[in-house]
Amino acid sequence: MDGLVCDRCGETLLLDSDVRYRVKIEVFAAYDPLEISKNDLQQNIEGKMEKLIRQMEKMDPEELQDQVHRSFEYDLCPDCQRDFLRDPLGKNLGRIIKEDEGT
Ligand SMILES: [Zn+2]
Repeated sequence: MDGLVCDRCGETLLLDSDVRYRVKIEVFAAYDPLEISKNDLQQNIEGKMEKLIRQMEKMDPEELQDQVHRSFEYDLCPDCQRDFLRDPLGKNLGRIIKEDEGT
């Protein structure tokens, strides 16, 4: 992520490549639009909040962060950028590893 080497293959970017690419990945919890019903308003909101806070106090801060939002940035060389665009979710990764093991 320093812009000097490809974060995927380790190739030096500024010396060996004319072009480099930056990938930004953001992973966040997707909730439905907030809808408040009459039933919600009649519930004990303060009690629910206290219970939620008590639960969160017992959790690992990293685990909590993972559940809400994470972002990543990587520098890629042109070859790795092409591979990333072909398979951004790494769906074919398992298949490629199996093929390599077979040869
Ligand atoms: Zn690379």
